[in-house]
Amino acid sequence: MKITGTTRLAGIIGWPVSHSRSPLLHGFWLDETGVDGAYLPLPVRPDHIEQALHALPILGFRGCNLTIPHKQAALAVVDRVDPLARRIGAINTIVVAPDGGLEGTNTDAFGFHENLREAAPRWDPGLGPAVILGAGGAARAVIVALSDAGVAEIRIVNRTRERAEAVARDLAISQTRITIHSWEEVSTVQRRAGLLVNATSLGMVGEPPLILDIAPLPLSAPVVDIVYVPLETELLAAARQRGHLVVDGLGMLLHQGRPSFEAWFGVSVTVTGRLRAAMRATLAADR
Ligand code: NAP
Repeated sequence: MKITGTTRLAGIIGWPVSHSRSPLLHGFWLDETGVDGAYLPLPVRPDHIEQALHALPILGFRGCNLTIPHKQAALAVVDRVDPLARRIGAINTIVVAPDGGLEGTNTDAFGFHENLREAAPRWDPGLGPAVILGAGGAARAVIVALSDAGVAEIRIVNRTRERAEAVARDLAISQTRITIHSWEEVSTVQRRAGLLVNATSLGMVGEPPLILDIAPLPLSAPVVDIVYVPLETELLAAARQRGHLVVDGLGMLLHQGRPSFEAWFGVSVTVTGRLRAAMRATLAADR
């Protein structure tokens, strides 16, 4: 990569940000497309997020991604929020408009849906209710994606009931029934389900394990884990062994980056086998 006086700038703002794989992802696409651009890790403390975002147009940035803990706070700072991000209640992408305004969007629902479409092409929303473990920011994007895909019933299992209730309230739409369950009910909610998604941080490196018996889940239901460190979580290993189609979190990570890259750098990108291999190698080394 060569930085010139006309290099287009974007980056990821987080605190901490050193764990993020987004610089690798966007760096891969910058190399592949030959775009005169750079994508930087930008560590910004929570109390500086407003100043940092207002500085983006001043410094000539095309925009940025947002990661923990800024996804919700940034919603109140940007000038415009698209309806999808408003529904999800969080933004992960900001594009600086020609007038200098900050436009917030969320590409996680797109990333989840594209990954599911690609990895489980025979999955059908009519297969049965979707069981979602978790009610955090990522779960909200997953629920919006599944609801928009036409899933008629979504069963949320979450430790903190109030958080799940807020999700059900915020994301209620007439076509999708959202029910809330405790972990004690995790066996019964799997019965006759058409999809199981882990959208908690359980099973991620450094977090407690996800202890779950998937025996009640119909074999026709794909099992998705959006955790991507490690790529093969214990949940996916158990599901694979039982004969389920399994979908790991890498594809979601890759696909959610596409709309942002296209908005900042003006070039379409795809998720190729070479990109997957490069990212898999890095994630395997991180274990
Ligand atoms: P978050 O907002 O902090 O939510 C965390 C979720 O995990 C909540 O539902 C939380 O339950 C649950 N949880 C955490 N510790 C728990 C425990 N000990 N017991 C039971 N439940 C527990 O995080 P997030 O942003 O939604 O991210 C969740 C995971 O998704 C992370 O591993 C993240 O890396 C991954 N992710 C992947 C992608 C991708 O592209 N593949 C994109 C976004 C996120 P409570 O509500 O009870 O706290």
